[in-house]
This record gives sequence, structure tokens and C-alpha cells, in this order.
Amino acid sequence: MSEEDRHRWERPALDEVAEGVWRIPLPLPGDALRAVNTYLVRGPEGYLLVDCGWNRQESWDRLEESLRHLGAELRQVRGVFATHIHDDHYGLAGRVRSGSGGWVALGSRERETLEAFRDHPREARQRSRRRLEELAAADVAARLERAAPPAERPPPATPDLYLAGGESVVLGHRTLEVLPTPGHTRGHLCLFEREQGILFAGDHVLPQITPSLGVELPLDGSPLADFLTSLEAVRDLPARLVLPAHGPVFTDLRHRVDELVEHHRVRLEECQRAVEDGSATAREVAERLPWTRHRRRLLDLDPFNQMLAVFEAEVHLQVLAERGRLRRDLADSAHRYALP
Ligand SMILES: [Zn+2]
Repeated sequence: MSEEDRHRWERPALDEVAEGVWRIPLPLPGDALRAVNTYLVRGPEGYLLVDCGWNRQESWDRLEESLRHLGAELRQVRGVFATHIHDDHYGLAGRVRSGSGGWVALGSRERETLEAFRDHPREARQRSRRRLEELAAADVAARLERAAPPAERPPPATPDLYLAGGESVVLGHRTLEVLPTPGHTRGHLCLFEREQGILFAGDHVLPQITPSLGVELPLDGSPLADFLTSLEAVRDLPARLVLPAHGPVFTDLRHRVDELVEHHRVRLEECQRAVEDGSATAREVAERLPWTRHRRRLLDLDPFNQMLAVFEAEVHLQVLAERGRLRRDLADSAHRYALP
């Protein structure tokens, strides 16, 4: 695929991807993801917005302009369903609510993260740094801090509804099932319209990239194990159309799930081999592995992506330990791995 084709989905658009469902890409200037798709779903009494973009003026303007092109008004937005708490999905939720009077829904397992960022923002922002130190990557933490000191951001809006999965969002004749899909974040949710076979996939199943794993507070649980289980859970859904938050809409869900599972199987083997060759920490393993589809070295990535790489290595090492293929020693100040 040419670079131009790869980026075509990011351009301003108002695509009716299914009857009464529009894809609206909103810009993420300066971010490697480049844009986020929000989906506007028409019901008999108004609209549902699935994900909503950064809390920045340019996202807001694009969203308003798109609604205007459709002949819709903000006050007709009945609800915002955020697939997860990340800023590109949840940032504008509070502003849309203020302008529309609608509700905001978020996964219930995002609650702890949300409250940490709302009530103790400084500590929450510093937690990634402490996490990097635990993974023997204090150098990455220092580079990250120099490159981009933790930004002050407006606190996240408190949702009206926390959803655990298993609920349904009903919009007239449409029923959207809420599917719990922990992995990318612990509270990630997808929406599935069974009758039409439409999966609103958020960041769970993306067509061109693999979602980051292990980048969140709190730090318990096993993000990769959860992610693989959640992939299994959606693989055989009768979906004819997948609506991802980043990248173009696509049709073959099972094929893409299989590719993602295969990607992580290969990564697990690479991590195992790195430890067999003497690497002991996520930081050391990350240095041995190639990163991105261009197969870059860790230290050739920008500091933010170095952090993602170290976290990603850690969640793979953790799964290898859970499977008994590695031994994990947390007694030291840094997590260390060895052969059993
Ligand atoms: Zn995300």
C-alpha cells in the first residue's frame, strides 16, 4: 500500500459508512496517530456519538462543522459513548455534554484511572516515570521528561454512566450491544450492532497498527493476556463491517484478529529469545527488538515511543512468566526475568 493510500482515511470527511452511520475523522495535530474517527449514529430522536476527539478547538470546530453539513445540531446529540478513556476518544465528552445536554458513558473499569487524573493529576502524570524506573528504564523516563514535561490538561469529565459490558444502547430500531474488551485499556468497550453486523471497534481491532498495551494506571492485571482474550471474544462475531477509531473501515474482522494474534505470538517468541540471550529487564529486551513496521531500534524512536516500547516489552515478558516460560523476580527494585 502506498503512503498516500495509507493516510487517505485521515482527511476531513463525512462518510456514510452504513445506513445512518457517519465516520468523521478529527485531527490529532502532532500525534503519530494523526487522526481519530468518531462515528455519528442516527436514531429516531437524535444522534449517538461514538468517541469524540481531543479537547481542543480544532477538533471541536471539525465536529461542529460536520454536524452542520449533515443538517444536525449539537443539541440533537443524545449521548457520547467513549470506547475508552484516552484523550483522543474521551477528551471532548464534557464539552459535547455541555452543548447538547446528552449523557456521557464510559467503561466502569476506567473509573480508577479517571479519578486519578481528575483528583491527583500531578501524581497520575508522574506514575509513568515511576513505572519506567521499575522496568529499569530510568534513562527513557529522563529523556521523556526533557522532551515533553508532563502537560497540564483540563481534568477529564465525570461520565453520567459507567458501563461494565453486557448492557445495550437502544436507538429506536437499533440495538447496540456493549462488549467488554479489556486490553488496550482495562475498561475498553466495543459496540456491536448485531442486526447490521457492525462493530464499533474503538482501539481494540485496528486495521493498520496494533494498539499500545500496558500504558495505564493502575498497573495490576495482565494487559496482553486480557487483550488476547478480548480478541478471541470478538473474532467470530457476525460482523460485516468494522469501524475502527484509527484507520479506514474494513470488512474482514476474523482475518485482522488473526493477524494481531500472530503479531503477538511472534513478539512473545522474540522476547523469550532475548531473555535466553541474556536480557533481564523490559528495558534490555526492548533494546533487542525491532520496533514499528520500519523495524527501528529502540533508541531511534522518539522518547514517547521509547516508553511505549518498554511497556510493550514488559507486558509480553509478563505473559511469558504467566505461562511458566520465564521466571519473574519482583524482589529487586526493577522487574527482572530469567529462565525458569
Ligand atoms: Zn487508545
